[in-house]
Amino acid sequence: MTTISTSKTVVVTTTDPDPNCPLCPRLAEFRAQSRAREPDWFNAPVLPFGDPGGKLLIVGLAPGLKGANRTGRPFTGDYAGDLLYATLLEYGFAKGTYQARPDDGLRLVDCRIGNAVRCVPPQNKPLPVEINTCRQFLIATIAAMPKLRAIVALGRIAHESTLKALGLRSAAAPFAHGAVHKAGTLRLYDSYHCSRYNTNTGVLTPKMFRDVFAKVRKDLG
Ligand code: SF4
Repeated sequence: MTTISTSKTVVVTTTDPDPNCPLCPRLAEFRAQSRAREPDWFNAPVLPFGDPGGKLLIVGLAPGLKGANRTGRPFTGDYAGDLLYATLLEYGFAKGTYQARPDDGLRLVDCRIGNAVRCVPPQNKPLPVEINTCRQFLIATIAAMPKLRAIVALGRIAHESTLKALGLRSAAAPFAHGAVHKAGTLRLYDSYHCSRYNTNTGVLTPKMFRDVFAKVRKDLG
Protein backbone atom coordinates (compact mmCIF):
# COMPACT_ATOMS: atom_id res chain seq x y z
CA MET A 1 0.00 0.00 0.00
CA THR A 2 1.32 3.46 -0.86
CA THR A 3 0.84 6.31 1.60
CA ILE A 4 0.33 9.76 0.10
CA SER A 5 0.97 13.11 1.77
CA THR A 6 -2.28 15.07 2.06
CA SER A 7 -1.12 18.59 2.85
CA LYS A 8 -2.66 20.36 -0.16
CA THR A 9 -6.01 22.14 0.31
CA VAL A 10 -8.78 21.53 -2.24
CA VAL A 11 -11.33 24.31 -2.68
CA VAL A 12 -14.92 23.25 -3.36
CA THR A 13 -16.52 25.73 -5.72
CA THR A 14 -19.84 24.21 -6.76
CA THR A 15 -22.22 21.27 -6.39
CA ASP A 16 -24.12 19.62 -9.26
CA PRO A 17 -24.09 20.85 -12.85
CA ASP A 18 -27.08 22.28 -14.64
CA PRO A 19 -28.83 19.76 -16.98
CA ASN A 20 -27.65 22.01 -19.82
CA CYS A 21 -24.15 22.50 -18.45
CA PRO A 22 -22.22 24.40 -21.15
CA LEU A 23 -18.74 24.11 -19.66
CA CYS A 24 -17.48 21.52 -22.17
CA PRO A 25 -18.60 22.76 -25.61
CA ARG A 26 -17.78 19.50 -27.40
CA LEU A 27 -19.81 17.45 -24.90
CA ALA A 28 -22.66 19.97 -24.91
CA GLU A 29 -22.82 19.64 -28.70
CA PHE A 30 -22.73 15.83 -28.47
CA ARG A 31 -25.56 16.01 -25.90
CA ALA A 32 -27.62 18.21 -28.24
CA GLN A 33 -27.14 15.73 -31.09
CA SER A 34 -28.20 12.85 -28.85
CA ARG A 35 -31.29 14.78 -27.70
CA ALA A 36 -32.29 15.37 -31.30
CA ARG A 37 -31.73 11.72 -32.23
CA GLU A 38 -33.11 10.10 -29.07
CA PRO A 39 -35.52 12.54 -27.39
CA ASP A 40 -36.70 9.89 -24.90
CA TRP A 41 -33.22 9.32 -23.46
CA PHE A 42 -31.92 11.11 -20.36
CA ASN A 43 -29.25 13.07 -22.32
CA ALA A 44 -27.91 15.27 -19.49
CA PRO A 45 -25.09 15.26 -16.93
CA VAL A 46 -25.60 12.12 -14.82
CA LEU A 47 -25.66 12.81 -11.10
CA PRO A 48 -24.18 10.44 -8.50
CA PHE A 49 -26.38 7.60 -7.25
CA GLY A 50 -26.51 6.34 -3.69
CA ASP A 51 -25.96 7.40 -0.13
CA PRO A 52 -24.03 10.64 0.56
CA GLY A 53 -23.68 9.33 4.11
CA GLY A 54 -21.89 6.21 2.84
CA LYS A 55 -18.30 5.22 3.51
CA LEU A 56 -17.61 4.09 -0.06
CA LEU A 57 -17.54 6.09 -3.29
CA ILE A 58 -17.03 4.41 -6.66
CA VAL A 59 -15.70 6.67 -9.40
CA GLY A 60 -16.18 5.61 -13.01
CA LEU A 61 -15.05 7.32 -16.18
CA ALA A 62 -18.15 8.84 -17.81
CA PRO A 63 -21.73 7.84 -18.72
CA GLY A 64 -22.03 5.27 -21.50
CA LEU A 65 -24.01 6.48 -24.51
CA LYS A 66 -26.65 3.76 -24.26
CA GLY A 67 -26.13 3.16 -20.54
CA ALA A 68 -26.29 6.03 -18.04
CA ASN A 69 -26.77 8.65 -20.76
CA ARG A 70 -29.92 6.79 -21.79
CA THR A 71 -31.25 5.84 -18.36
CA GLY A 72 -29.97 8.68 -16.14
CA ARG A 73 -28.45 6.47 -13.42
CA PRO A 74 -24.71 5.72 -13.28
CA PHE A 75 -23.72 2.34 -14.78
CA THR A 76 -27.35 1.49 -15.52
CA GLY A 77 -28.30 -0.12 -18.81
CA ASP A 78 -25.01 -1.40 -20.19
CA TYR A 79 -22.61 -4.26 -19.59
CA ALA A 80 -20.40 -2.36 -17.12
CA GLY A 81 -23.43 -2.01 -14.86
CA ASP A 82 -24.22 -5.73 -15.00
CA LEU A 83 -20.82 -6.59 -13.51
CA LEU A 84 -20.65 -3.62 -11.12
CA TYR A 85 -24.10 -4.04 -9.58
CA ALA A 86 -23.78 -7.84 -9.34
CA THR A 87 -20.53 -7.31 -7.44
CA LEU A 88 -22.00 -4.64 -5.16
CA LEU A 89 -24.94 -6.95 -4.36
CA GLU A 90 -22.52 -9.80 -3.60
CA TYR A 91 -20.52 -7.71 -1.12
CA GLY A 92 -23.46 -6.05 0.60
CA PHE A 93 -23.04 -2.60 -0.93
CA ALA A 94 -26.45 -2.85 -2.63
CA LYS A 95 -29.87 -4.36 -1.89
CA GLY A 96 -32.65 -5.42 -4.22
CA THR A 97 -32.49 -6.66 -7.79
CA TYR A 98 -30.62 -4.88 -10.53
CA GLN A 99 -32.84 -4.74 -13.63
CA ALA A 100 -30.91 -2.15 -15.65
CA ARG A 101 -33.59 0.50 -15.08
CA PRO A 102 -33.45 3.50 -12.74
CA ASP A 103 -36.85 2.47 -11.31
CA ASP A 104 -35.79 -1.11 -10.50
CA GLY A 105 -35.79 -0.34 -6.77
CA LEU A 106 -32.10 -1.19 -6.34
CA ARG A 107 -30.69 0.58 -3.29
CA LEU A 108 -27.03 1.22 -2.55
CA VAL A 109 -25.92 0.51 1.01
CA ASP A 110 -23.19 2.69 2.56
CA CYS A 111 -22.08 3.40 -1.00
CA ARG A 112 -22.34 5.99 -3.75
CA ILE A 113 -21.44 5.86 -7.44
CA GLY A 114 -20.34 8.76 -9.62
CA ASN A 115 -18.14 9.50 -12.61
CA ALA A 116 -15.03 11.57 -13.27
CA VAL A 117 -16.90 13.16 -16.20
CA ARG A 118 -20.66 13.61 -15.99
CA CYS A 119 -21.58 13.92 -19.66
CA VAL A 120 -21.27 11.19 -22.26
CA PRO A 121 -18.21 11.73 -24.47
CA PRO A 122 -17.90 10.57 -28.09
CA GLN A 123 -16.32 7.08 -28.23
CA ASN A 124 -16.20 7.01 -24.41
CA LYS A 125 -13.12 9.24 -24.58
CA PRO A 126 -13.24 12.54 -22.71
CA LEU A 127 -10.51 15.06 -23.51
CA PRO A 128 -8.08 16.10 -20.76
CA VAL A 129 -9.64 19.57 -20.66
CA GLU A 130 -13.09 18.01 -20.12
CA ILE A 131 -11.80 15.81 -17.30
CA ASN A 132 -10.22 18.86 -15.70
CA THR A 133 -13.35 20.99 -16.14
CA CYS A 134 -15.72 18.40 -14.68
CA ARG A 135 -13.45 17.71 -11.70
CA GLN A 136 -15.16 20.49 -9.76
CA PHE A 137 -18.23 18.24 -9.52
CA LEU A 138 -16.19 15.25 -8.41
CA ILE A 139 -14.65 17.45 -5.72
CA ALA A 140 -18.15 18.47 -4.65
CA THR A 141 -19.27 14.83 -4.58
CA ILE A 142 -16.36 13.87 -2.32
CA ALA A 143 -16.88 16.91 -0.09
CA ALA A 144 -20.54 15.99 0.37
CA MET A 145 -19.65 12.60 1.89
CA PRO A 146 -18.65 13.31 5.50
CA LYS A 147 -18.18 9.63 6.41
CA LEU A 148 -16.18 8.72 3.32
CA ARG A 149 -13.37 6.23 3.99
CA ALA A 150 -12.87 4.38 0.71
CA ILE A 151 -12.88 5.29 -2.98
CA VAL A 152 -12.73 2.69 -5.74
CA ALA A 153 -11.40 4.23 -8.95
CA LEU A 154 -12.46 2.33 -12.08
CA GLY A 155 -9.63 2.85 -14.53
CA ARG A 156 -6.63 5.14 -14.82
CA ILE A 157 -8.56 8.31 -15.71
CA ALA A 158 -10.85 7.95 -12.70
CA HIS A 159 -7.81 7.22 -10.53
CA GLU A 160 -5.90 10.29 -11.69
CA SER A 161 -8.87 12.63 -11.55
CA THR A 162 -9.70 11.39 -8.04
CA LEU A 163 -6.14 12.02 -6.89
CA LYS A 164 -6.31 15.56 -8.27
CA ALA A 165 -9.74 16.04 -6.68
CA LEU A 166 -8.13 15.14 -3.37
CA GLY A 167 -5.30 17.58 -4.06
CA LEU A 168 -2.70 14.83 -4.50
CA ARG A 169 0.06 14.28 -7.04
CA SER A 170 -0.42 11.26 -9.29
CA ALA A 171 3.32 10.43 -9.22
CA ALA A 172 2.91 9.56 -5.53
CA ALA A 173 0.28 6.90 -6.25
CA PRO A 174 0.58 5.28 -9.69
CA PHE A 175 -2.44 3.42 -11.02
CA ALA A 176 -2.30 -0.37 -10.86
CA HIS A 177 -5.15 -2.86 -10.72
CA GLY A 178 -5.52 -4.08 -7.13
CA ALA A 179 -3.35 -1.29 -5.67
CA VAL A 180 -4.44 0.46 -2.48
CA HIS A 181 -3.23 3.97 -1.70
CA LYS A 182 -3.62 5.51 1.71
CA ALA A 183 -4.30 9.24 1.82
CA GLY A 184 -4.96 10.46 5.34
CA THR A 185 -8.15 8.80 6.56
CA LEU A 186 -9.05 7.66 3.04
CA ARG A 187 -8.04 4.61 1.05
CA LEU A 188 -8.06 4.70 -2.72
CA TYR A 189 -8.51 1.28 -4.37
CA ASP A 190 -7.65 0.85 -8.04
CA SER A 191 -9.43 -1.43 -10.47
CA TYR A 192 -9.45 -1.76 -14.19
CA HIS A 193 -12.73 -0.41 -15.53
CA CYS A 194 -15.49 -3.03 -15.70
CA SER A 195 -16.21 -2.29 -19.36
CA ARG A 196 -17.21 -4.97 -21.81
CA TYR A 197 -13.99 -4.32 -23.73
CA ASN A 198 -11.83 -5.04 -20.67
CA THR A 199 -13.72 -8.20 -19.77
CA ASN A 200 -13.91 -9.45 -23.38
CA THR A 201 -10.15 -9.04 -23.79
CA GLY A 202 -9.38 -10.65 -20.43
CA VAL A 203 -7.80 -7.48 -19.02
CA LEU A 204 -10.32 -7.75 -16.20
CA THR A 205 -12.00 -10.97 -15.09
CA PRO A 206 -15.05 -10.98 -12.80
CA LYS A 207 -12.83 -12.57 -10.13
CA MET A 208 -10.25 -9.76 -10.38
CA PHE A 209 -13.09 -7.27 -9.98
CA ARG A 210 -14.65 -9.13 -7.05
CA ASP A 211 -11.26 -9.30 -5.32
CA VAL A 212 -11.10 -5.49 -5.20
CA PHE A 213 -14.51 -5.25 -3.53
CA ALA A 214 -13.70 -8.14 -1.19
CA LYS A 215 -10.72 -6.08 0.02
CA VAL A 216 -12.88 -2.96 0.45
CA ARG A 217 -15.49 -4.94 2.37
CA LYS A 218 -12.84 -6.44 4.65
CA ASP A 219 -11.27 -3.04 5.35
CA LEU A 220 -14.60 -1.29 5.98
CA GLY A 221 -15.90 -4.15 8.09
S1 SF4 B 1 -18.70 17.02 -18.47
FE1 SF4 B 1 -19.10 18.10 -16.54
S2 SF4 B 1 -18.28 20.17 -16.80
FE2 SF4 B 1 -18.41 19.23 -18.85
S3 SF4 B 1 -20.41 19.89 -19.65
FE3 SF4 B 1 -20.74 17.92 -18.61
S4 SF4 B 1 -21.32 18.42 -16.49
FE4 SF4 B 1 -20.44 20.26 -17.41
